[in-house]
Amino acid sequence: MSHVFSRAGGDLPVVARARGVQITDTDGRSYLDASGGAIVVNIGHGVAEVADAIAAQARQAAYVHPTAFASAEVSAYADELAEVLPIADPRVYPVSGGSEAVDTAMKLARAYHLARGEDRHVVIARQGSYHGNSRGALDVSGRAALRAPYLPWLGSARHTTTPYEYRCPFPDSHPVGCGARHAAELDRLIRTAGPVAAFIAEPVSGAALGACVPPEDYWPAVSAVCRAHGVLLIADEVMTGFGRTGRWFGGDHWGVRPDILVAAKGAASGYWPLGLVACTAEVHDAVVGAGGFVHGHTYSHHVVGAAAGRAVLRILHRDGLVTAAAERGAEFGDGLRSALAEHPSVGDIRGLGLLWAVELVADRATAAPYPRQERVVERVVAEARSAGLLLYPSTGCADGVDGDCFLLGPPLSATTAELAEIVTRCATAV
Ligand code: PMP
Repeated sequence: MSHVFSRAGGDLPVVARARGVQITDTDGRSYLDASGGAIVVNIGHGVAEVADAIAAQARQAAYVHPTAFASAEVSAYADELAEVLPIADPRVYPVSGGSEAVDTAMKLARAYHLARGEDRHVVIARQGSYHGNSRGALDVSGRAALRAPYLPWLGSARHTTTPYEYRCPFPDSHPVGCGARHAAELDRLIRTAGPVAAFIAEPVSGAALGACVPPEDYWPAVSAVCRAHGVLLIADEVMTGFGRTGRWFGGDHWGVRPDILVAAKGAASGYWPLGLVACTAEVHDAVVGAGGFVHGHTYSHHVVGAAAGRAVLRILHRDGLVTAAAERGAEFGDGLRSALAEHPSVGDIRGLGLLWAVELVADRATAAPYPRQERVVERVVAEARSAGLLLYPSTGCADGVDGDCFLLGPPLSATTAELAEIVTRCATAV
């Protein structure tokens, strides 16, 4: 019996090696990684340059506490991030992962308002959303099934409507004008929810709802509502950041200018557990000016993490991977549609860049989902695995809907031939 706490509860293949889009197990079987792990490995597996940068920094100075030493590596990384982040003159707070970044961002939002003499504490997120598994990030997440077992601990956040075009909550105004309806809902909730500190949302919703691209008018309308109420906008770019959707950050498609942005996954592409919080100089200066931000994690501002993040940024720039995600992503989406759109169980195929989702339904005419006990998506993911393809099951569809959805988020470095092979294997598995 293994002493590892088993997350999967069953026998898993043992990983031997990972290169590019391929993972090989110790039995010599190889898999095409269309999941990027959990939509993480943006630059692809096994890039020696990143491993070398990590080793070099670890040899030079592996760890210093950020309150005792500044680091030229961390500071260079923040400067390089400033060139690509959608926040002018940002301040960057590196952490260890997405949930930690979300927790930090929410505390930062509260601290900002307190520093200005306003006791705002309510955070609004969206129904069906996923922002992480720490107690704070789960509290704000809107996915009821994940929250249910922990409810006595949770309850401070409120949830508004989410743009989910396949099951639009405003069918009468769909597809033109639903962005304004979502904004009106947010406005109503802000007026009634108590003192609202922040609204957190993914620019393109990832894990929970499956690559839902909002209508064109959504982000301009929702951003305007936040500004009008002095509510900070937190963009959760954990999944959509670092080129995944074909722009540096998902919100760039609509010119979203968040007050705070959180990222992780693609930031170090799996080579190091790295998350980031970036905020405006205004938020930073208010909080620090009011006596500092009493918050910290042992591994925040990690020097080796910064070295990994810098190496990943270099590769994203050098290999043109953000543009590649836009171009190859469009072809990939067309490929998925032509291979799967007529399949009797495929209700919707949606995505942007190299973040795509396929939603499976029992009845295409009514979009009726399969009963949960049929575990359809688990079967498809298992089928794909035996065909040598790794897919990422989504945590489900909107609350109240037992949806079955899987995500495809291959490395942005995948070649056209590799993406075509992913489509072929996917069509076999569904
Ligand atoms: N936000 C989003 C949008 C995510 O997809 C995730 C992870 N799937 C998180 C937050 C949490 O990140 P982590 O798992 O690194 O804590």
